[in-house]
Amino acid sequence: MFSDQLASIRERIDRAARRSGRDPASVRMLAVTKTVPPERIREAAAAGLTAFGENRIQEALGKMDLLQDLSLEWHFIGHLQKNKVKYLPGRFALVHSIDSLELAALVHKACFKRDRPQAALVQVNVSGEASKFGLPPEALIPMLKTARELTHIRLEGLMTIPPFAPDPEAVRPCFARLRELRDQARSELKMDLPHLSMGMSHDFEVAVEEGATWVRIGTALFGPRPE
Ligand SMILES: *Cc1c(COP(=O)(O)O)cnc(C)c1O
Repeated sequence: MFSDQLASIRERIDRAARRSGRDPASVRMLAVTKTVPPERIREAAAAGLTAFGENRIQEALGKMDLLQDLSLEWHFIGHLQKNKVKYLPGRFALVHSIDSLELAALVHKACFKRDRPQAALVQVNVSGEASKFGLPPEALIPMLKTARELTHIRLEGLMTIPPFAPDPEAVRPCFARLRELRDQARSELKMDLPHLSMGMSHDFEVAVEEGATWVRIGTALFGPRPE
């Protein structure tokens, strides 16, 4: 049963939070529904999930239209191409994947035009993998310094995607590093940055122990995706 699956993941999140002295209510689960058909998203919503994440804008907008009646909270978590920014304003509760100052400026501009301020997280490529989007850690503070002046993009924290490692303990330093970068930005720039979006199906417990406020869960909820 989907609801049993969901309950067991929620329980694992709650336990990881308590282990590290955190309030389980401070960790939210984002159901990642890329490739998942709308009917299954309906089931997930019926089981109590409220926040859904997509990494392709067209796929996200299509599902939003089909599921309008449910008033779900949608998040964008993928690399956003510059020519797709125009589809963004007013559609997503949170964009997790602002991966350059240029993109932040474009999102601000599009959202300014429609007067729809956008909450967003800055994606950091903590591990420095060439295949990953995100700012290099050393570029974060200068980027935030400029981006925080943009009125229509509201930066609320950081996001990262660590390299895949069979043992989730191997990526603990990546999650810890993201938290440290946030703490550094907090003290140097006096920005609040409450959110850390980190942890996916196979490493979310470690991410929660390191301070995640959003875990992004796909396969653990919906099963493997088609290749
Ligand atoms: C697909 C995806 C996830 C979910 O991955 P799972 O391993 O299936 O939980 C999380 N974050 C991002 C950015 C993704 O693209």
